[in-house]
Amino acid sequence: MDAKIGVLALQGNVSEHIDAFLLALERMGHGPSSEVFEVRRPADLAECHALAIPGGESTTISRLIGKNQLYEPIRSFPGGIFATCAGMVLMATEVGDPRVRPLGLMEMAVDRNAFGRQRESFEADLAVDGLNGDAFHAVFIRAPVVTSIGTGMRVLARVEKGIVAVEKGKHMAFSFHPELGNDTRLHEWFLKNIGI
Ligand code: GLN
Repeated sequence: MDAKIGVLALQGNVSEHIDAFLLALERMGHGPSSEVFEVRRPADLAECHALAIPGGESTTISRLIGKNQLYEPIRSFPGGIFATCAGMVLMATEVGDPRVRPLGLMEMAVDRNAFGRQRESFEADLAVDGLNGDAFHAVFIRAPVVTSIGTGMRVLARVEKGIVAVEKGKHMAFSFHPELGNDTRLHEWFLKNIGI
């Protein structure tokens, strides 16, 4: 099927997600009729089979979701959501920061900036449950961790501090940035999972 993938383009690392999804689609054998485009308004979202919520600043993205009247449309979006870093924060049910109004699409509590100042950024080779092949080389940038999960949540990876990758039905969320580098296995897995 021709895929239409939207990347929420309110703030954050949007172009990296567009490039990663284009590469994943190409590797999966999709032709030019599959598209990856920026989502800024409810009408853009209505066109998509899947949505990526990128990393950036979750407080800012949350505010702009409200301003652009995207809160309810994203909450009722029927497609899959691929969320990274600040995106993971937004997918949670509990964030503990009043500046973020989480979408509540994945039952989990997250701790923003969980690695503190000393380890604002780091890289790690992660064993991701269900991912074929080698460990995934993960880049963490002021990353959150998941501190607790509710029903229906599958843990895909953890580090010492806590859970860093989760799946629930059509949705996947990562503390790190799978869109950096050219390993598209997680993007491809997500797309296959939703029938693309
Ligand atoms: N610390 C940021 C936040 O909570 C997320 C950082 C990122 O997306 N790279 O919004």
